[in-house]
Amino acid sequence: MKIIDGKQLAQTIKNEIKEEVDQIRAEGGNIPHLAAVLVGDNPASRSYVRNKVRSCEFVGFESTLIQKDAGISEEELLEIIDELNENEDIDGFIVQLPLPDHIDETKVTLAIDPKKDVDGFHPVNFGRMAQGLDCFLPATPYGILQMLERYKIDTSGKHCVVIGRSNIVGTPMSILLSRKANPGNCTVTLTHSRTKDLGAEILRADIIVAAIGIPNFVGSDMVKEGAVVIDVGINRVEDETRKSGYRLVGDVDFDAVADKASYITPVPGGVGPMTVTSLLMNTLKASRLKQ
Ligand code: NAD
Repeated sequence: MKIIDGKQLAQTIKNEIKEEVDQIRAEGGNIPHLAAVLVGDNPASRSYVRNKVRSCEFVGFESTLIQKDAGISEEELLEIIDELNENEDIDGFIVQLPLPDHIDETKVTLAIDPKKDVDGFHPVNFGRMAQGLDCFLPATPYGILQMLERYKIDTSGKHCVVIGRSNIVGTPMSILLSRKANPGNCTVTLTHSRTKDLGAEILRADIIVAAIGIPNFVGSDMVKEGAVVIDVGINRVEDETRKSGYRLVGDVDFDAVADKASYITPVPGGVGPMTVTSLLMNTLKASRLKQ
């Protein structure tokens, strides 16, 4: 069994991006600029956004953080998005989800200019992705593709079972892995909460992508010997031995599954750090496209 070290791979990719930015700076070119909008004080969202801003600083991007309290109206938020769409200094931006209940996330996603949609959530980017056209790929699936590619994991002709059908992880992952591309060319089964005999479906997989948000859901009895296991889940479970009172676990029971898997991603330190590097790669791309 090999561990896919997302933390280390993310650092390698960040170093590569930093080199490119140094080069752009040396040539007097435009430094990529990412903006992030954070609404409310959800601790997980704050920590994700902080991490994104820190990563921007590391690679030498410019970054702008716009923080608004949870009481902001939908109209005010849409105005901020319009300004970011118009602002020529900003190459790309994200609005950290989830948003408070009184704000319609779909409306917000649709308001973002697809050319600045570095999270890859806008239907224009999603549609282009589905047709194999150039686009901003959604950050988490893009990070997983990077892992498969850099670890030289053969996906062609393999049976992949994706668990979870969200718009940001499961559904785009199923599309990307079924595309005629490398990584890709998989036969994909997309499973979800209504799937019958989910355990039997997962057991047929050469590659498992788990994105459901249930701690340790995938146990050893569901995993075929030699399967590649990609764990997207980030779940907080109580842990009195930790100062914080909790620890993070994935959707896969790592200790039970690791011996059976040929490759496995840990949580934390697996898919999570790769999501941030995808965002940086998309921002670099947005900046280049603007030239
Ligand atoms: P979501 O809640 O939007 O979707 C969950 C999906 O799981 C749904 O499609 C649902 O049908 C399916 N599901 C729920 N219960 C199920 C069950 N018992 N059996 C089969 N399917 C079931 O979740 P999401 O936004 O895709 O996130 C999933 C997990 O991934 C969460 O833990 C989230 O924190 C994590 N996540 C991690 C990253 C990262 O960067 N590593 C990024 C996004 C999400």
